Amino acid sequence: MNQFISRQLFILWMAFLFAVIASPKIHAEDFYAAKRTQMIKTIEADVRIGYGNLAQKDLDENVINALNTVPRHEFVPKKLQQSAYDNRPLPIGYGQTISQPYIVAVMTNLLHVGKNDKVLEIGTGSGYQIAVLAELVDKAYSIEIIEPLGKEAEARLQRLGYDNIVLKIGDGYYGWKEHAPFDAIIVTAAASHIPPPLIKQLKPGGRMLIPVGSRFMVQELLLVEKSEEGKISTQQLLPVAFVPLTGKH
Ligand code: SAM
Repeated sequence: MNQFISRQLFILWMAFLFAVIASPKIHAEDFYAAKRTQMIKTIEADVRIGYGNLAQKDLDENVINALNTVPRHEFVPKKLQQSAYDNRPLPIGYGQTISQPYIVAVMTNLLHVGKNDKVLEIGTGSGYQIAVLAELVDKAYSIEIIEPLGKEAEARLQRLGYDNIVLKIGDGYYGWKEHAPFDAIIVTAAASHIPPPLIKQLKPGGRMLIPVGSRFMVQELLLVEKSEEGKISTQQLLPVAFVPLTGKH
């Protein structure tokens, strides 16, 4: 009997411990899941407005799923986690930013990537954009020029279990010849011109998105397409404000 009571007490004690330890985590996850849902609603409303020359008025279902899967609060400094799902860029240290969720959504949508694709990002930053893309493609590559930022992103993506992302520290202006050609390339820092090595490393039939313009002014988001015959065409899509593409190129 005594043994029975002590077993019951033990089970109750364990249940109490579980509630104390696990419940704040479960509540935090619910809290962020609700914020993610709200973020996606805000993005969808903005997409329907159709800013600039954006023709598509809906996000693809798989892009919405990717945005709903990636825990954006894990990609910002601890003290900003509560604001992670606000529709604005946030500082991530070293004078850099994680892009606004609307911009991440629109750029991901415009790349039209598929599950067999290989994508290259220039400007890893927090790793958020490449994590969203990694949900949609076979293999995702990203280059960051600021070493500590790239190392932090690498540790974060490993902790979150992204095993189809490969990162490198370097000047993304030159692309990543060893893994080229890419089905899609996304540049998340503003360049003064389209880097010729990136055009070269784009697959025929591939798409590149790049903000181009002066670092002190609003830039223009360009869609660069390479036809199956290798012909390049560009289209101005949207005024944007990105941090500059740096490096000695
Ligand atoms: N995609 C990032 C994310 O999801 O957090 C945000 C990118 S942030 C707006 C731009 C990033 O580009 C910065 O981290 C910056 O250090 C990086 N960058 C600037 N010039 C670069 C270059 N030449 N090569 C690689 N990365 C560069």
